[in-house]
Amino acid sequence: MKPVTLRRDVDLAPLSTFRLPARARELVILEHPEQLESLPPTDLPLLVLGDGSNTVFMGDWPGRILLNRLGGMRVEPLDDNTSRVDAGAGENWHRLVRTCIDRGLHGLENLVMIPGSVGAAPMQNIGAYGVELSDVLESVRAWDWQTAEMLELSRDDCALGYRDSRFKTTDRGRFLITGISMRLDHEFRPRADYQSLARALTHRRLSKPTPRQLAATVMRLRRHRLPDPARLANAGSFFKNPVVETAVARDLLKEFPALPHWPGDNQRVKLAAGWMIERLGFRGYRIGDAGVYQHHALVLVNHGQATAADLKVLIDKVRQAIRREYGVTLEPEPLLIEPDF
Ligand SMILES: Cc1cc2nc3c(=O)[nH]c(=O)nc-3n(C[C@H](O)[C@H](O)[C@H](O)COP(=O)(O)OP(=O)(O)OC[C@H]3O[C@@H](n4cnc5c(N)ncnc54)[C@H](O)[C@@H]3O)c2cc1C
Repeated sequence: MKPVTLRRDVDLAPLSTFRLPARARELVILEHPEQLESLPPTDLPLLVLGDGSNTVFMGDWPGRILLNRLGGMRVEPLDDNTSRVDAGAGENWHRLVRTCIDRGLHGLENLVMIPGSVGAAPMQNIGAYGVELSDVLESVRAWDWQTAEMLELSRDDCALGYRDSRFKTTDRGRFLITGISMRLDHEFRPRADYQSLARALTHRRLSKPTPRQLAATVMRLRRHRLPDPARLANAGSFFKNPVVETAVARDLLKEFPALPHWPGDNQRVKLAAGWMIERLGFRGYRIGDAGVYQHHALVLVNHGQATAADLKVLIDKVRQAIRREYGVTLEPEPLLIEPDF
């Protein structure tokens, strides 16, 4: 088996789509699950990284980064209606979605163009346009650092919620996800009830879209709303939509009837953080090179030379303003790696 590649004092800016200046003490590139059993020993803290589109380095990482590049994809028909797709955690998510569409396997069309690796997808139960990974996920294969063994966790074992899972909360840092299995349909049943998607389909006169047409419509919407990290550094939605008790939502909606909202987990109500931020005039607002994206207030961007200090001030300003105006606390969606972590 090929030994792992180990590098020291590594520049992290190109490994995170927000591209703040930061360095890691060590970086190990993982290409085969078997390499996990023979990693060079270390007492350093470990951090798994996929494509870095949901990780923001607010300072240097004093430990080892495990860069997940575990590849592979396999399709196994289960019955006339469904197939199981197994994918290595280091595969690119968007490419996997495209491959599934090309092979007549359905259920992922709305999740096209989400940046990142397959292995990070269960971390926050990625979702877009009314579909979440949890709708198709069967199981997750993971290396358990506590017991030094490979495990298979069923979807229910993963405790998936809105941008959430046990990997992000109770078991943060415990597992390295090596692959996932999904059950996809042979027959295409479009999920087109999400408001902006439904509107875009109507606009394009696609009352019965094909899988490719649905995915293309999602891609158009995404290109319109979100900056391409290759051109303008960002980590997608920077804040989660806050989920509040029904009574809190009722009071807020009395005061702000236009506030977009949706049913959340456990009979609570999810509020549109982007609307709340935009209404306070933050679009285009900047602290140094850290800014609120001009076209979508939920996205923070790095205009080029942003520092962690700039970003921190910006985050605090937005959160304080939202707390003052709406009495709601915004939580960052990406993992912020703080220097004293
Ligand atoms: C422009 C843009 C648009 C986006 N749109 C969406 C969207 O529509 N919906 C959505 O849900 N997200 C969205 N995101 C966020 C991001 O794409 C997802 O969270 C994606 O799953 C991150 O993948 P990654 O490989 O880049 O993760 P990374 O940033 O590398 O890692 C994210 C977290 O997962 C951990 N991790 C990564 N891989 C593993 C592994 N194999 N095992 C254990 N832990 C691991 C890391 O330690 C870190 O905590 C967007 C981001 C950008 C930049």
